[in-house]
Amino acid sequence: MKNDIIDVKNVTKCFGSKKVLDDLSFQVGQGSVFGLLGKNGSGKTTLIKSILGLVRPQHGNITTLGDDPWCFQESTKEKIGYVPQMDSLYPWLRIKEMVEYTASFYSRWNSNLVNELIEDWGLNPQDRIGTLSVGESQKVSIILSLGHEPELLVFDEPVASLDPFARRQFLKTLIEIITRRPCTIFFSTHITSDLERITDHVALLHQGKIMFCGELDELKTRGNLNLEEIFLEMTR
Ligand code: ADP
Repeated sequence: MKNDIIDVKNVTKCFGSKKVLDDLSFQVGQGSVFGLLGKNGSGKTTLIKSILGLVRPQHGNITTLGDDPWCFQESTKEKIGYVPQMDSLYPWLRIKEMVEYTASFYSRWNSNLVNELIEDWGLNPQDRIGTLSVGESQKVSIILSLGHEPELLVFDEPVASLDPFARRQFLKTLIEIITRRPCTIFFSTHITSDLERITDHVALLHQGKIMFCGELDELKTRGNLNLEEIFLEMTR
C-alpha cells in the first residue's frame, strides 16, 4: 500500500542454525498504533532491529518510511524515535545533560514537550542517570525518543520496567502524541492489557511466524475469549 510506513516482505532471519524470523510479511499503515505481541524469545526484538537496520535478515525485503533500513538516509533517521529494551543512556550524565546531548543530534527539538514530560513524570533534571531506578531510566529513554517529534515511534517492550501508574502515564502520553500530530507507533509487548488500551492493529508473533495480523477489533471478535486467552490459545 502506498501509505505503508513499514513494509516487511518474506523476511527470514537466522542466528546460526536457529530460524528466528520465518518468512514474515506484514505492513504497518500510516497513523496506526501497531502492537507486536509475542512471548519472550519469539523474535520481537529481532524483528524491530530488522525494521531499523540494526540486524540484517538473510532473506526478504523491508522498507521503513520508504527507505531501506540497512542504508537509511540521515533524513529518514531523523524521522524515527526508538526506545530499545536495554537503555543506551550515559550513567555519568545528569538527565538535563543527557537531554542536551541527545538534542544536539537533531535539527529540530521540542524542548517544551521534553521539559513538560520530565516534570509530569516526576523526574528531577539534576539527577544523575546512574542513580536512577530501571523504571526511571526507561522514562528518560522514552522522553528522549519523543523530543525530535518523530513520524515513526518504535518501542521495544516500553513498559516492561514501569510500575502500573507509570504505565498508565506512558500510554496516556502516547494517546496525547497521536492526537496532537500525525505519527505511527510500533511497539512490542508481552502484556495484552497494554495493547488493548491503545492499539488499533496487532500482530501475534510465535516461533518466528505471524499467527495473526490485522485490526484488534477483528481479533477480539473471535469466539468469546479475551485477548489474553486468544494469545495463549494461538501460541500454545
Ligand atoms: P523477543 O524480543 O521476542 O524476546 P528476541 O528477538 O530477542 O526475542 O530473540 C529471539 C531468539 O533469537 C532468542 O532465542 C534469542 O536467543 C535469539 N537471538 C537474538 N539475537 C541473537 C544473536 N545476536 N545471536 C544469537 N541468537 C540471538
